[in-house]
Amino acid sequence: MIFAGSHILSVEQFSRADIEQIFAVADSMEPYALRKRVTRVLEGAILGNMFFEPSTRTRVSFGCAFNLLGGEVRETTGFKSSAIAKGESLYDTARVLSGYSDVICMRHPESGSVAEFASASRVPVVNGGDGANEHPSQALLDLYTIQKEVTAKRGSMDGLRIAMIGDLKHGRTVHSLSRLLALYDNIEVVLVSPEELAMPERYVDALRSAGHKVVISSELNHSISRVDIVYSTRIQEERFESKEAADVYRGRFRLNQSIYTEFCQPNTVIMHPLPRDSRSDANELDNDLNQNPNLAIFRQADNGVLVRMALFAMILDVVGQVEAHSREVNWYHRRNGM
Ligand code: ASP
Repeated sequence: MIFAGSHILSVEQFSRADIEQIFAVADSMEPYALRKRVTRVLEGAILGNMFFEPSTRTRVSFGCAFNLLGGEVRETTGFKSSAIAKGESLYDTARVLSGYSDVICMRHPESGSVAEFASASRVPVVNGGDGANEHPSQALLDLYTIQKEVTAKRGSMDGLRIAMIGDLKHGRTVHSLSRLLALYDNIEVVLVSPEELAMPERYVDALRSAGHKVVISSELNHSISRVDIVYSTRIQEERFESKEAADVYRGRFRLNQSIYTEFCQPNTVIMHPLPRDSRSDANELDNDLNQNPNLAIFRQADNGVLVRMALFAMILDVVGQVEAHSREVNWYHRRNGM
C-alpha cells in the first residue's frame, strides 16, 4: 500500500510486504525511542489524539511516538469534555479537528465510528480502537513482538503456534491479530474462551480458509502445552450490560508460574495487550510471573512506541529524513534496551 497520506483503519489494508516495511522502519526508530539520539523531523506537525474510551498505553504511546519524532500533541479524552456531548456529529468534529492537526488518532466505543470520522477528515486518521471491532496498531505491535521474541528461538513466523485466551468475542486486539496472522503460512491458533465469549465466526473462517489450523477449547491447561505464544486477554467489562454480567467470566482462565511450569514449553512467550486485570477475582496473569524471562508484556508495550513512530513517519512521508534531522541527546539517560 501507499502509506503517505493514508488512513490506518483496519489491518485488512496490509499485505505481508507492507508489514515487513513497517517493521523495518520500526527497527530504525530504536535509537530515538532509546533516547540515544533525538530527531526533530516532525517539528511543527500536530497530532490530534482523541480518545473517547479509557486508554493508558495506546494514548500515551501514540503521543510519545509523535513527540519523539519532534511533533506536538493535542488531546481530547472522554465524551464529557468534548462538544460531542453537546450533540455535535462525528462529521462536524472531523471537519473541525482535521483543520487543527496533521494526523489524528482516535478511539471510540462504536465499531465503524473511526472509519466514519475518517471519511470526513481532511488529514490521515489512525484507528486507536473502535469498539469490539479492530485495533490495528496494537495488532502490528503484537506481531512485531512475536517476530522479535519468537523468530530468535524458532527461525520464522511461519508455522507459529499461538493460544489466544479470554474474551475473544469482544477483544478487538485478538480480532485484528488473527487477521494479520492469516497472512503467514501454516499457523496454528488455539482459541480458549467460555463458549459465550468465543471468537466471532468470521475471524475463525478467515483463518481456516487461508489454510491455517484452528482449535477451539474452553480449557486452559492443555491448550497451552504446545504453543510458542500464550496471548492472554481481559474480560472486556465495558462491552457487557453490567459489571455483574462480566463477573460471571472473570477469573475463568488464570495463568500463574506453577501452571506455566507444569503445562507450558520452557520457552513459551507470554503476551497480553494490557491492561491485565490484577484484581483478585480476575488475575488473568499472576504477578508471580513477573520474574519469568518469557513474560513479554512490558517489552510488548515498549514496542508500541517503535511501531507507532514507524506509522507516523510513513503516513507523513518522512522516513528518509529522520536521520538528517537528528543529533545526540544532551541529557542523562540510562536505557540500554527496549
Ligand atoms: N488495551 C486493549 C484495547 O484497548 C486491550 C484491553 O483493553 O483489554 O483493546
